[in-house]
Amino acid sequence: SKARLFDEKTDVKTTFLDVAGLEGAKEEIQEIVDFLKNPKKYTSLGGKIPKGALLVGPPGTGKTLLAKAVAGEAKVPFFSLSGSDFVEMFVGVGASRVRDLFKQAKEKSPSIIFIDEIDAIGRARGKNNFSGSNDERENTLNQLLTEMDGFGTNTNVIVLAATNRADVLDKALMRAGRFDRQIYVDLPDVRERKEIFEVHLRPIKKDDTVDTDFLAKQTPGFSGADIANVCNEAALIAARKERSAVGRQDFLDAVDRIVGGLEKKNKIIT
Ligand code: ATP
Repeated sequence: SKARLFDEKTDVKTTFLDVAGLEGAKEEIQEIVDFLKNPKKYTSLGGKIPKGALLVGPPGTGKTLLAKAVAGEAKVPFFSLSGSDFVEMFVGVGASRVRDLFKQAKEKSPSIIFIDEIDAIGRARGKNNFSGSNDERENTLNQLLTEMDGFGTNTNVIVLAATNRADVLDKALMRAGRFDRQIYVDLPDVRERKEIFEVHLRPIKKDDTVDTDFLAKQTPGFSGADIANVCNEAALIAARKERSAVGRQDFLDAVDRIVGGLEKKNKIIT
C-alpha cells in the first residue's frame, strides 16, 4: 500500500487539560481556537483570520501536543505531517502531496493543518545543508507558500507549524498572511514540571511516598517529553520489582535512567 504522507484525525480528544504549564502559549493559541469555532464573529468587521502560526521551542516541550489540543478544543479535524518524512519519503512528489493535503483540509474545513519539523522543508532557499534534492525541497516549500497565499479569507483552515530552529527558516514563511505569528514553547520551570508530573501521574498507581514538588526539583532541564518518559519508566521499574504501586525510589531510578540516556545522546552530538 502507498505510504501515507499525512495523517488525518477527525475526533481529537486532546484538550488544554492535557497540556501542563505553557500558560502564555495556551493563552495565545486560545485565539486560534476561537477563530475556528466562530469565524464569522471575527470576519464581520472586515478583519482577516490569520492563516498560520509557528510554534517555536526545544524538542519535547509540547508543540505537537498544543497543536492537537487546538483541534480538540475547537472540535475540528487535525491534518498532520512531518517535514522530515516529507523530504525523505516523497522525492519528486512533494509539491503534489502538499496540494493534496490542502485540498483535503479545505474540504473538511474548519480544520487544522500541523507541520512538524517545518525546518526540513522551510530552510532558507539556496542553502543546501540537508540530505536529498534541494530543488525538490524548494518545490515543496514553494507549493506550501502558494497554498497559503491561495486561501481566501473564509477558508477556515489554520496552518500550525513547529520548529526548534526558527533561525534557519526562509523569511518568506514568516511574511504577513503566512506564519506571521510566533508562539514560544519553552522548557518548563520547576512549577511547570510539577504540573506536567501531575498530568502524567494520573494513570499511574502510586503510593503516598510520591511527591510532585520533590520530583519537580529533581528534574531541572527536563522537557515535558522527558517527564512523561520518567513516569512511564517508573511504572515499569516498579512492575519488574513486583510492587503493587509505584513509589518514590522507582521515580528516582527512572530519573537516573533518563539522565543517563540524555548524557549519552549529548555525547553523540558533541
Ligand atoms: P518535538 O519538537 O520533538 O516534536 P514537541 O515539542 O512537539 O517535540 P510533543 O511531541 O508535543 O513535543 O511532546 C511529547 C510528549 O511529551 C507529549 O505527547 C506529552 O506526553 C509530553 N509533554 C510534552 N510537553 C508537555 C506538557 N507541557 N504537558 C504535558 N505533557 C507534555
